[in-house]
Amino acid sequence: MNVILLGPPGAGKGTQARLLVEDRGMMQLSTGDMLREAKASGTEMGQKVAAIMDAGQLVTDEIVIGLIEEKLESDHEGGFIFDGFPRTLAQADALGSLLEKHGTKLDVVIEMRVEDADLIARITARSTCVQCGEGYNDISKPIPADGACSVCGGTEFTRRADDTSESLRMRLLEYYKKTSPLIGYYYATGHLRTVNGLGEIDEVKDAIAKVLDA
Ligand code: AMP
Repeated sequence: MNVILLGPPGAGKGTQARLLVEDRGMMQLSTGDMLREAKASGTEMGQKVAAIMDAGQLVTDEIVIGLIEEKLESDHEGGFIFDGFPRTLAQADALGSLLEKHGTKLDVVIEMRVEDADLIARITARSTCVQCGEGYNDISKPIPADGACSVCGGTEFTRRADDTSESLRMRLLEYYKKTSPLIGYYYATGHLRTVNGLGEIDEVKDAIAKVLDA
C-alpha cells in the first residue's frame, strides 16, 4: 500500500509515519529527512539547499523528485509512506508517473488537519533524540525527567534549524500557496481522506488506521 501523508508543518506527519513503519512494515520516505541528511553530511546538494531550508522555502522540484526516484528504485513489499512529498502539483504528477513506471500506484492520501495556532505551539516546542530520532514535545511529550530518551537511552536532543517562528511563517505560507492545492487535486482523483490531526498521538493513529483498513 502506498500512502501520502499531507499536511502543514507540525501536523504530525513524521510521528505518524514512524508509527506506520513500526506497525505495518511500511517504508517512510521523508524528503525533509533526506535533505537534512544531505545538509548535515555537507554534500554539494546539501550545501545548495541549506539556506533555502533554513529560510523555510521549498527546494526545487527537480531535487526532491530525484531523491524520491532514487528510493523507489528498490521495491518495498510493505509499501511506502510519502511524508512531506509531494509538496507541489509538479511533484504530485511526477510521483504518479514514477509509481506507474514501477508497476504500482498510489492508494490513499491522508490529509492531517490542524489549526495554525496549534501548529506554531507544537513546532516551537519540539525536539528530537539525536541517536534514534524519537520526537519529543515540551508540552505534550516532554523528554523524561532523567534526561534519557525513552526509546534508546540517548541523552542528546536537538531542535531543527528551521523550527523558529520566522522560518515557520514562511513554511506556512509555502504550504498554503504551493502544497494545499494538492488537497483539491487528490479530492478530484478520489484519493483524499481527511483526519483530525489535533488529538493525542494514539487518537490520530487510530483515525489513520481506520482509513487504511477501510
Ligand atoms: P520537512 O521536514 O518535511 O518539514 O521539510 C523541511 C524542509 O525541507 C522544507 O521546509 C523544505 O525546505 C524542504 N523540503 C522537504 N520536502 C520538500 C519537498 N517535497 N519539496 C520542496 N522542499 C522540500
